[in-house]
Amino acid sequence: MPELILLGSGTGVPSLRRSSPGLMIISDQTRMMIDSGPGTLRKLLEAGLTYRDVDLILYTHLHPDHTSDLVPTLFACNYGDFPREKDLLCIGGPGFKSFFEELKKLYGPWIESQTYHLTVKEVSKEPLLYRDLKILSKSMAHISGSVGYRVEFRDGKSIAISGDTDYCQNIIDLGFEADLLVLECSFPDEKKVEGHLTPSLTGRVGLESHCKKLLLTHLYPVCDKFDILEQCRQVYRGEVLLGEDLMRIII
Ligand SMILES: [Zn+2]
Ligand SMILES: [Zn+2]
Repeated sequence: MPELILLGSGTGVPSLRRSSPGLMIISDQTRMMIDSGPGTLRKLLEAGLTYRDVDLILYTHLHPDHTSDLVPTLFACNYGDFPREKDLLCIGGPGFKSFFEELKKLYGPWIESQTYHLTVKEVSKEPLLYRDLKILSKSMAHISGSVGYRVEFRDGKSIAISGDTDYCQNIIDLGFEADLLVLECSFPDEKKVEGHLTPSLTGRVGLESHCKKLLLTHLYPVCDKFDILEQCRQVYRGEVLLGEDLMRIII
């Protein structure tokens, strides 16, 4: 059965409780990471995995709290005693390829694949078929190039992930009847910030998408001073989980 491991339930604000965004989705044939904020590589180790296990990385957008462990990942893949041999695919929204070209200009051979095959792609309208997964994406209401994803498994199960977003129809569409909808929940209802969700908005997305379960993550430190779950449950009657680092959910 597919499993989700939440590597970091936090944001770009350094926090001992909540590491920066990153999660793993593990299916029969694929180990996929979504986002890799600072500290994600160490969180992988804490989860009993390593950067070498990852087959595929999806990026939701280019903010540093979601991407900054990409360079250390590629640098580690060239490490002499354990050079990577299996292919690696990295996918992001519009602008991801030019972002990667700029990184290559800065880091050159330190991050270029030397002993394995690296493919860097941007999402397209067509679903991506990768081994036992079908991956769909839609643009999100955050910054230019932001995308959310829906991952469908062979057994009919599905997980949708918002990345960072404000309320929008596209996240409702991605989360439609999903077994698990992972939503950002940056700030409590009392402190709404444009481009991000609050608990009651996550509840609205959960309600309107008819998803079976909600997982709230991307929690700024202020969230821990409020009853986030209660604010969400005022709107959404299904099961809601408050993200914690290294939380595992079987789908
Ligand atoms: Zn973020
Ligand atoms: Zn962001």
